[in-house]
Amino acid sequence: MDILKPSQPRCLTSKHDRLKLFQFFGGRCALCNRALDHTFEADHIVPWCKKPETNVHKMQALCRSCNRSKGGR
Ligand SMILES: [Zn+2]
Repeated sequence: MDILKPSQPRCLTSKHDRLKLFQFFGGRCALCNRALDHTFEADHIVPWCKKPETNVHKMQALCRSCNRSKGGR
């Protein structure tokens, strides 16, 4: 059995997944629609504490300033 198998990684660590997310949002921030570069942040739409899964389709690409203002301090 795989009970002790570690859960999915909390962040999108693979470049491939980040690229998928980037392309899914057309290279633009999901909030302000600004063009993103490689420094974009992969944000969990559903907070990790509520639903601990890392799925590209449940994430959004945000620019750094949007992700920062969303995340609070
Ligand atoms: Zn933004």
